[in-house]
Amino acid sequence: MAQADIALIGLAVMGQNLILNMNDHGFVVCAFNRTVSKVDDFLANEAKGTKVVGAHSLEEMVSKLKTPRRIILLVKAGQAVDDFIDRLVPLLDTGDIIIDGGNSEYRDTTRRCRSLKAKGILFVGSGVSGGEEGARYGPSLMPGGDKEAWPHIKTIFQGIAAKVGTGEPCCDWVGDEGAGHFVKMVHNGIEYGDMQLICEAYHLMRDVLGMGHDEMAKAFEEWNETELDSFLIEITASILKFRDGDGGHLLPKIRDSAGQKGTGKWTAISALEHGVPVTLIGEAVFARCLSSLKDERIQASKKLKGPQKIQFEGDKKAFLEDIRKALYASKIISYAQGFMLLRQAATEFGWTLNYGGIALMWRGGCIIRSVFLGKIKDAFDRNPQLQNLLLDDFFKSAVEDCQGSWRRAVSTGVQAGIPMPCFTTALSFYDGYRHEMLPANLIQAQRDYFGAHTYELLAKPGQFIHTNWTGHG
Ligand code: NAP
Repeated sequence: MAQADIALIGLAVMGQNLILNMNDHGFVVCAFNRTVSKVDDFLANEAKGTKVVGAHSLEEMVSKLKTPRRIILLVKAGQAVDDFIDRLVPLLDTGDIIIDGGNSEYRDTTRRCRSLKAKGILFVGSGVSGGEEGARYGPSLMPGGDKEAWPHIKTIFQGIAAKVGTGEPCCDWVGDEGAGHFVKMVHNGIEYGDMQLICEAYHLMRDVLGMGHDEMAKAFEEWNETELDSFLIEITASILKFRDGDGGHLLPKIRDSAGQKGTGKWTAISALEHGVPVTLIGEAVFARCLSSLKDERIQASKKLKGPQKIQFEGDKKAFLEDIRKALYASKIISYAQGFMLLRQAATEFGWTLNYGGIALMWRGGCIIRSVFLGKIKDAFDRNPQLQNLLLDDFFKSAVEDCQGSWRRAVSTGVQAGIPMPCFTTALSFYDGYRHEMLPANLIQAQRDYFGAHTYELLAKPGQFIHTNWTGHG
């Protein structure tokens, strides 16, 4: 008998938690998994006492669903998604809906969306963020794909998503085809940037100001009461304070070699492909790559000299505030760059993206959740056509207010030999973006000199000319 509102395939941690979340919100979910024994385990343990039902085959699962059938895949991204789609299609009817909630590459989502549309099946690729905790109690959800599916899944998606403010859900329709997964990818890239910026602030506090761990934790706690109020600042304060069984701080004992699963790299690659200067996320990815060369760095540290270590003699409290403002200004640049990439992708792929809605989707439920995202939502509410976040009055004044501090933090750090790839690239981007005239005129002349690539005169736009720079033949 058709009794279930929705099915979910994939009973690893994300799938189980999302099922329990949907159950909490009154939806009857049918659970299925490749390794079928996990269905019974789940029903007997985590889902005991709930309304969740199980199926031992895809046929049984499909027979238990109300129409149009709604099926979420939360399986390992890649071939597993295609395999399940291939098995499901013969069992489904026109108008049924398949939703991929895994971390799929957006181009795969576009391909799946197109091929399923031709078969009459509605496909949705949804970013799901917030990890296990988010899936269980309220994730940020970024659905995109075939918009005809949205009215059929909206109540469930917005019901289970995280809520902010006066109960606004961190979930809205993102756009066509792979737009949902593209937005999730940019979200992950921004997460890399936010984390690296915090690391650079920590490095300056530790190595320039010589602050202890509890002192740094206190600073981050105070910062969490300011514009920087966010999940990542909050957990950084907790991490800094944390002591292990020996009673000492745990953080300095952790190997300084960062891992990555690749979604930050995807954002950087996409930025290069679309020709958008998303420099901060790129630097954040490279910073992790550099950190992972631990053995090589140990060798280099014995040979390569930096500036002589000097005792900080300035006003410590004032410099701490400089670091805070450098972090805030750099963060604004990172989000401005992220939205530039979204804008360019929307133009190239013909998507209509709701930028304010995207900021709201990230406002709660996910790793980059912050009060700051509310300000981005406000900026796009004020002007939905806003070309760049930096041109919004609020962000323009915020960066102006931080500018002196930002430059002091960066120049002091450079003098002290502290690597700050994201603080510095953010400042360079700001300086580049605000310059009417950049030295690219020389690049054009060089290109014309060695390759006859031609150049355009400022006074004669649209006319491309070549000069014989050497006077030879
Ligand atoms: P996962 O380890 O990525 O995937 C495990 C699930 O995929 C299991 O149900 C497994 O079935 C199934 N699976 C693996 N290979 C398969 C194949 N070749 N054919 C069919 N099924 C296959 O699980 P997860 O961490 O819960 O993540 C699920 C999805 O959500 C992934 O795309 C992940 O990237 C994404 N995601 C994860 C997080 C997170 O914090 N973990 C956050 C956001 C998004 P068996 O039980 O039979 O092996």
